Amino acid sequence: MSRAELNPSTAVGKMIGVLDLQGDVFEHLDHLERLSVTVRPVKKAEDFEGLAGLILPGGESTCLARLLKIFGIDKVIVGKFQEGMKLWGTCAGAILLAKSVVGEAPHLGLIDIAVERNGFGSQMDSFVSEASIPRLSGTPVPLTFIRAPKILSVGKGVEVLLSIDDYIAAAESPDVLVTIFHPELTPSLAFHRYFARKCGIKTGGKERAIDPAWDKTSWMRLARITPMERRSAEPLTKGLRQEIDYGNPERI
Ligand code: GLN
Repeated sequence: MSRAELNPSTAVGKMIGVLDLQGDVFEHLDHLERLSVTVRPVKKAEDFEGLAGLILPGGESTCLARLLKIFGIDKVIVGKFQEGMKLWGTCAGAILLAKSVVGEAPHLGLIDIAVERNGFGSQMDSFVSEASIPRLSGTPVPLTFIRAPKILSVGKGVEVLLSIDDYIAAAESPDVLVTIFHPELTPSLAFHRYFARKCGIKTGGKERAIDPAWDKTSWMRLARITPMERRSAEPLTKGLRQEIDYGNPERI
């Protein structure tokens, strides 16, 4: 049965889940909670009950794909999607949702995009930047790319939300949002607000903003992801240990 033949209202709830198998789960949950959205980490089939939407976080797509299969969650995601659950994949999550992945078989294949994994190079080629995305926000949205894929093309029914240079960075179909960057690793709530609305969840009531200097106090400072314009000016391998108080180095 096609998605259009089903009545989405039977499946849609008011809660957003974050796939909790691997990757940056906490950060997504935190961003949603700041918008007063009810959230749930999702590990097993029962956790999908009543979800209006599911976020597939960034992490490592090979690892995530294996875990999805081992726990049988891949089939549950497809089933719930067909019943009306919206999806948002960030980075590795976008790879999992793509219909086509260069050089490997697709995983869930729920949005007609072609992606190339590690499109910018290695982990050391990670960077931050910002862009104006008028559909989301009146102010520039910060973008964090961590060993990101590139979206090379989109098919019918998929709209480009942001394209930069020779690649597409964010796109959406009516039911699926994909971003190759990590809004959950920035102080901006714009993408989470946008996805909540896509799921039919109203935000705009009580919001708890994130301190703009958040990355100075979070683990993000350990990542040493530099703004794009400083990318080659600052060697990424320069002694982390001299700059950062790690506490007990044995625990790193
Ligand atoms: N490079 C990872 C992959 O191919 C994705 C990285 C990320 O999610 N930040 O799965």
